[in-house]
Amino acid sequence: MGSRHPGWTADPRDLLRAGPGFTLEDVDRGGTPGFRGRKSDAERFGRDRGRLLSELQERLFAEGRTGGTRSVLCVVQGLDTAGKGGVTRHVMSMVDPQGVALHSFGPPSEEELRHDFLWRIRNALPRPGLIGVFDRSHYEDVLVVRVKHLVPDDEWESRYDQINHFEKELVDSGTVLLKFALMVSHDEQGIRLMERLDRPDKRWKFNPSDLETRAQWADYQAAYQAVFERTSTDWAPWYVIPSDHKWYSRVAITEIVTQTLVDMNPGWPEPDWNPFEMRDRLAELMSSRALTESLADTTRTVAKAVAADAKVQREEIEVSLDDVDSEDAAARADERAALAEVTAQRAAYVAEAIRTKQQKQRLVTAAKARETLR
Ligand code: AMP
Ligand code: MG
Repeated sequence: MGSRHPGWTADPRDLLRAGPGFTLEDVDRGGTPGFRGRKSDAERFGRDRGRLLSELQERLFAEGRTGGTRSVLCVVQGLDTAGKGGVTRHVMSMVDPQGVALHSFGPPSEEELRHDFLWRIRNALPRPGLIGVFDRSHYEDVLVVRVKHLVPDDEWESRYDQINHFEKELVDSGTVLLKFALMVSHDEQGIRLMERLDRPDKRWKFNPSDLETRAQWADYQAAYQAVFERTSTDWAPWYVIPSDHKWYSRVAITEIVTQTLVDMNPGWPEPDWNPFEMRDRLAELMSSRALTESLADTTRTVAKAVAADAKVQREEIEVSLDDVDSEDAAARADERAALAEVTAQRAAYVAEAIRTKQQKQRLVTAAKARETLR
């Protein structure tokens, strides 16, 4: 835990959360708060975190397949060119494609308009075990809708409370909700829009209406400020991400998602059958030759699981202790307890492996006896 390594000097969730008294105007959008290091450091650091994220995501997925009810939903908001698409693709590229579900929300269709504004959102919520990602969301219904007066004022005005209520229900039902607002500066947006015009391969991302939106910059900032004041709740806080440096928004969001999964601490589900009993039954359907080969592989197979598990646990411990002061006696006790848990887990794996090998030896003998009888 040397303090000169690239990495976070504090938990970005504490640094970037929109708490009471938050003012968007005070955010330095070209800043890189809490990250020690440069772009190349952030990219390397983020890749390491990605490996841990991927392991934890697989566990969450397994949990969802075996009766678990937990999921994660990342809501990504921001004006044109803020990098919503890039960040979303980046985080998604680090995990198994079957474990994530992306939904992009554009102007509502006729059918969607016939329903309540949350209808299309409810239909897109992540199933248990998944990490859902929303590129724009129900927040457009108090952003673009408010700025462009698409519904009467009292209608969008009542939506903040409806949103809080909806999100509370969602969180109570087992979804961890992370809300990210990617904030670019006015100048940086101008440069990025110009780039979209200059590059033939980027023109498809440009929409002439982006210019109208940009012309209403101040109204959008006010609408975002209202979103943070009224919907950054204890159960679903907003994280406001300075986004002039794309590498920063990526590493920050990766870190927040990873830390969240570390806290959720998904474990491998316990099967409702006994592996020793199943091994007996499977062995009756195997030749002594195949059983002998499987016996020879046992140590290596179990060692793989032990190594993968220990690595994740070690990294989890590092992630949760990175920012605590190591002079702190309570933190040191936590660390000792966590390390003891790793050791105990490893001992349990080894003890089971010994029993497994003994069982397989008996099974090989039984198979040979069976084969000579034939
Ligand atoms: P893009 O994300 O660039 O593909 O653009 C999607 C567009 O859909 C943006 O201009 C949004 O403002 C717009 N949009 C998304 N949700 C809504 C909504 N509920 N009502 C009106 N416009 C919306
Ligand atoms: Mg756009």
